[in-house]
Amino acid sequence: MNDTRNPLLADDFRIPFDRIRAEHVAPGIRTALAEAQAGVDALAGDDAPPTWENTPARLDEITETLTRRTAPAGHLVAVAETPALRDAYNEVLPEMTAFWSRLPLHTALWRRIRAYAATSEARALTGARGRHLERTLDEFRRAGADLPPDRKKRLEEVKVELATLEQRFSENVLDATAEYALPVLGEGRLAGVPDAARRRARGRAQEKGLDGWLLTLDYPSVEPILKYCDDRELRREIHAAYATRCREGAHDNRTLIVRILALRDELASILGFDGFPDYRLADRMARTGARAGAFEQDLAQRTRPYWTRDVAELRRHASALGIDGLEPWDAAYVMEKLRRARFDLDDEMLRPYFPLDRVLDGLFQIVERTFGFTVRPRPIDEVWHPDVGYYEIFDEDGTLLGAFYTDWFPRKEKRQGAWMNNFITGGPRADGFAPHLGVICANFTPPDGDAPALLTHREVETTFHEFGHLLHHCASKVEIASRAGINVAWDWVELPSQLMENWTWEREALDLFARHHRTGEPLPDDMFRRLHAARRFMGGWAQMRQISFGTVDLALHEELAPKLRGSVQTALPPDREPGEGLPGNRPTELKEGGEGARAVGRQERSQGGRKVTEWNEAWLVRESEHVMRFARDRFLEFSPSPRFAELHGLTSFTHLFSGGYAAGYYSYLWSEVLDADVFTRFRSEGIFNRETGRAYVAAILSRGDSADPVELFREFMGRDPDSAALLERNLGSAPDAPETLDGNGGTT
Ligand SMILES: [Zn+2]
Repeated sequence: MNDTRNPLLADDFRIPFDRIRAEHVAPGIRTALAEAQAGVDALAGDDAPPTWENTPARLDEITETLTRRTAPAGHLVAVAETPALRDAYNEVLPEMTAFWSRLPLHTALWRRIRAYAATSEARALTGARGRHLERTLDEFRRAGADLPPDRKKRLEEVKVELATLEQRFSENVLDATAEYALPVLGEGRLAGVPDAARRRARGRAQEKGLDGWLLTLDYPSVEPILKYCDDRELRREIHAAYATRCREGAHDNRTLIVRILALRDELASILGFDGFPDYRLADRMARTGARAGAFEQDLAQRTRPYWTRDVAELRRHASALGIDGLEPWDAAYVMEKLRRARFDLDDEMLRPYFPLDRVLDGLFQIVERTFGFTVRPRPIDEVWHPDVGYYEIFDEDGTLLGAFYTDWFPRKEKRQGAWMNNFITGGPRADGFAPHLGVICANFTPPDGDAPALLTHREVETTFHEFGHLLHHCASKVEIASRAGINVAWDWVELPSQLMENWTWEREALDLFARHHRTGEPLPDDMFRRLHAARRFMGGWAQMRQISFGTVDLALHEELAPKLRGSVQTALPPDREPGEGLPGNRPTELKEGGEGARAVGRQERSQGGRKVTEWNEAWLVRESEHVMRFARDRFLEFSPSPRFAELHGLTSFTHLFSGGYAAGYYSYLWSEVLDADVFTRFRSEGIFNRETGRAYVAAILSRGDSADPVELFREFMGRDPDSAALLERNLGSAPDAPETLDGNGGTT
């Protein structure tokens, strides 16, 4: 009866993705925001004495409803972006950000929550409810609830501006990636590149009515060139194009980085924190930037001998291949050749054993045997693309825990990478269990002709990884949505995902699904042995790369950002009168931005002409060069030669500048320490041991943020985390003799 109602506001469990159009986005989200705001105002103004039900629980319900109504539009921007959809989303993005940042600054709401916290009921809360109240009070204070009005106002402006800048950063990456195309005329230049990748490049050229092959910058196109293409010049060209996306031209991200860093530092300072990392990590396991930095440093020190060994090996093998001086565009290629020489194994050789459908089937069997969850596909029509799958997941006792969508293959209008997202957070309710709803997305190599989609082992790991996130969401038994599932600390959230990857390295687990897609032959023993031997291959190199990202991330936010903020004011044109229009700044906004920037412009004006951040163009350009130099210098200690540091991909590093990993990149390795450690228990008790599996579900997987992760870890492991299992897994025994980097890397 409600067909004319905006599909974003539908209350059905399954989201009507097939009916959501760009024109629904702005009105749908605005209605959702208005209803949420009305709910919050009513809660805050309630005359009844505050109780758990009418205060924290009611607020949780309001925010969960809002998330459930706005998440689908954000998801469509990530997987099925059109210019109209992007514009519509950007139009309301500042309003959404403003709602969330204003929420903890709602004076009457804050008064109401504090009044509840002072009741005897609140003081007697224990367990998840007690933690929720404590975390809520903390979140309000962290958001500035106790700040004087002018500081509150500035804080909100900074957050709105940051959200817009971060969104623009990722749009630039998407656009720069989509715009690039390199035509290749002679197939000779593609010597070494696997057939499937060549056919895709050929297909892309044909699509555009071109002769030859077309190379693009989506990762499935880049990877085979860097790893396999014998033509060094072609590798150089693709590598340089990929690494330097958004360094100049129409999608230049350099000045956005300056603004983002300066504003993040200002945000932390307004809230009384000593730098952005301390603000960011206060509610995480690491607690402070210093502790995260010490974690990186310790691992860097323990990893360096292995890294030095790996670099020397790469250099030696490059020479043996007749490659003069190892360059950044040679690393993946030489590594692949060396891996092949040593283990006679490359990613492509394993693909035939990993057809996607069978991998999923195996994954579901493992999850059923070990954790007691059953996964069943269910065909549905309301999807955003014909490739999208839909599944339901049941608990040991038959309870429907949740459902999820899958979207595996790249498309022009889809974001890169692999990720999981939540749409609906359910959990135990008075009338039974409310199921969860989520999605997993990836960009795997699509089916080729009549062959199914075939994955590399790394892609199999990715599948298990994202499914681990999904299980964390769907297995949640936490009654409070904002403390449920994946709503946990960033340095804890990767434990359930990375843990799942461990099964892809176990023979018994692989036997469930690794079979040749044509012959049905299981993965040969010899190949399995080589896969394992190859696992630690270049472990020092890979681990150091992660350490370098984590270290540079912290350095940018801890060392550079305060300096940038410190110089913002002095950068204003000296002849400008206070409050005068800023011709030098506005055009930058309009030139670079689409609707997003203009929407912020409107918001700024609607705030009564109050000053917003005044960016001086000349200063931005100067500082953006400073940022690039800083990044290069900091990457240097992790680089075999200066050119590796020079070609850092900072301007397309969406994790740091538009994702949630700002000052948090360290958490990848942090949670690897956790997952390697947790898996030791499965190792010793049996990888399909249901009892161990259910103990893990009970202590960790179903618990969300209902207790301190330090306590959850202890509950399952009986002790604190130990990094020994990770070092053993990634690096193995110590290198025989210390090797030093010889001089042939010191080219410009
Ligand atoms: Zn993850």
